[in-house]
Amino acid sequence: MSQPTSGHRAARDLLDSMYRDVAHARDTAVAALAMPSHTTATVPIALVPLSRAPLHETSAHRHAMLAQRIRELLATMRQTTADQDDGLIEQPAPLSHDQTRVVVAVCSACRGHCCTNGREHAFLRVRTLRDYAAAHPEHTDEAIVQAYLAHLPTHALHPGCVYQGERGCTLPREMRSAICNSYLCTGLQMAVDGTSPDTVGVFVAHREGRQVNGGELRALPVLE
Ligand code: SF4
Ligand code: SF4
Repeated sequence: MSQPTSGHRAARDLLDSMYRDVAHARDTAVAALAMPSHTTATVPIALVPLSRAPLHETSAHRHAMLAQRIRELLATMRQTTADQDDGLIEQPAPLSHDQTRVVVAVCSACRGHCCTNGREHAFLRVRTLRDYAAAHPEHTDEAIVQAYLAHLPTHALHPGCVYQGERGCTLPREMRSAICNSYLCTGLQMAVDGTSPDTVGVFVAHREGRQVNGGELRALPVLE
């Protein structure tokens, strides 16, 4: 087995030191809540990136690009069968209800750093639309297009995905692509792994280059 290089060691040491600092800040924030001493409540740490892309009004051009993309996917869907869809993409991550709440809290704080390449296609695939159409057999193809367009935010991060609104993704999870529902960056995965039914919040800090910025205790959202 190869030995870690000094570069890898330095990177790991830096990350360890970042996590120690964030853990200290988390413990201070939790202590300020003065929770009962017998509590078993847990607050995992999420050290994740941060998108600083500005919000812009969703333009007619972006709207039309997305509509065109969905119509193209639907046309392909009507000419193909499910076994021709790419089956290689990851399945949605099997998350508990509490873990899903952590994901929503953390990804909205990060402002969708990993969504940046979604642009006007939002990673939608034929398989995404086939699943949606199967769940809504009463919808015509044009009704499906309109259902997707209805979730566009009035303002979205740009550059970014057309569904990246001020408070995170505006597209319901069941309408997103498998990749959107399966991808967890390393920092988020660690927070998810540390989530249990006793988790009452998540402490989010942002890693930007060699720096850690922010550090905020976020409550878990109530999901419908
Ligand atoms: S998966 Fe990670 S990088 Fe992507 S939006 Fe969530 S916290 Fe940000
Ligand atoms: S659809 Fe939502 S989760 Fe997927 S890339 Fe766009 S903003 Fe991110």
